[in-house]
Amino acid sequence: MLRVYNTMTRKKEEFTPLKEGEVSIYCCGVTPYNDSHIGNARPFVTWDVIRRYFAKKGYKVRYVQNFTDVDDKIINAANKEGVSWDTIANRYIKAYFEAMDALNVRHADVYPRVSENMDAIVKMIQSLVDKGYAYEIPGSGVYYSVEKFSHYGMLSGRKLEDMEAGARVEVDEKKHHPMDFALWKAAKPGEPAWDSPWGKGRPGWHIECSTMSLKYLGEKFDFHGGGSDLIFPHHENEIAQSCACLGDHHAFAQHWVHNGFITINSEKMSKSKGNFFTVKDILKEYPGEVVRFFILQTHYRSPLDFSDERLKEAQTSLARLENTHRLIGELSGKQGDAETAMNLAGEAETLRKAFYEAMDDDFNTALAISQMFALSKAINIYAQEVESGTSFDRKDFDRAAAIYSEMASIIGIFEQETAPAEDELTDKLMDILIELRQEARAEKNWALADKLRDRLKEAGVILEDTKAGVRWKRA
Ligand SMILES: [Zn+2]
Repeated sequence: MLRVYNTMTRKKEEFTPLKEGEVSIYCCGVTPYNDSHIGNARPFVTWDVIRRYFAKKGYKVRYVQNFTDVDDKIINAANKEGVSWDTIANRYIKAYFEAMDALNVRHADVYPRVSENMDAIVKMIQSLVDKGYAYEIPGSGVYYSVEKFSHYGMLSGRKLEDMEAGARVEVDEKKHHPMDFALWKAAKPGEPAWDSPWGKGRPGWHIECSTMSLKYLGEKFDFHGGGSDLIFPHHENEIAQSCACLGDHHAFAQHWVHNGFITINSEKMSKSKGNFFTVKDILKEYPGEVVRFFILQTHYRSPLDFSDERLKEAQTSLARLENTHRLIGELSGKQGDAETAMNLAGEAETLRKAFYEAMDDDFNTALAISQMFALSKAINIYAQEVESGTSFDRKDFDRAAAIYSEMASIIGIFEQETAPAEDELTDKLMDILIELRQEARAEKNWALADKLRDRLKEAGVILEDTKAGVRWKRA
């Protein structure tokens, strides 16, 4: 039985899919105006594992994730560079995919963009106006009237009276309530604009997710995800829009899943503090699978503290699991049909059960990974015994190996070709060879220089002459 924490009810609930054997998920995507930072990556890695898990359990998964490609931040970035808004959006959508591919995050089934869904967005706003949930302020735009939706605050647990009292948002005097939010913003000079019944303009932020989830997943779907910073106002407003439009406050998402914050060395990440890490920068230092593994070693709802030290720890831990993965490969050709005293498959089955129980308990990847470590240890011990000449039970070993790889495929590791880490000696030997080749060239001994280069190439090492000197890499 799978139990998932639902932000709406503040408790773990048994998951029953709306449609038997199927799972539908909507996760708020990025606003492509800069490189994704590590905090952006967390929900996508989390949902990637959840999707893999459901697929492994035999569900047909449909996963939708939007791109907010029409937004103030994009327009500002475009104006700053003197390029068009879509140049910025396309550039950072490409960068998003590069970062997520490196983290081994599988692509969504659909990536709807605001700019490609204007008609549907305008239609939904019109429907909210028609039903009396929205009103126009000429010259300013169309606003959602929060007082009209009696369930406003149902997700965040906030009350409208308290919000009004504490409202420090700048109040447009023409708004009916300070918390009323824009569905459509009238165009300002120099901004991209689309046609609408209220004149040229562009949508507010929240309406896109209501429109796109309805379009691609229907009136009701199983999961809505995102970072916990989106609970209010973004997700609260999505609910207000969708449920008012559909005339049913039980419509829209059935389970709300929010991941926790990422802190950097125990501090909140911010550009002004200089502790703002993009995925791209981190990937210069660590393989993508290490970053992914680091994220998954903490339960998705807990805060995740990011530091170089903790990433290094994750790298060491992952290397231990990879060693076992390699060991399994090394033993793959070995024949054996003897009974052994150690019931490896039996132990693996027990750990497999514990792994699934952890995942069934609100997708507890941290606990699931610890089962994988236990299996890794058992396989290592067995492999050692085999090496020391003890008899080998092929069937027993194969079952354990299959369970190990099943766990890995849910966590999403061992799927990338990672360059083997260079040991110190290799580095030193390569330095010596490069030095010798440079000396040969200085003495115009081209035959020797070329011979060194060619022999290294045969051995699978490529030399590159760069401005910073000679570099080497494996072919
Ligand atoms: Zn959203």
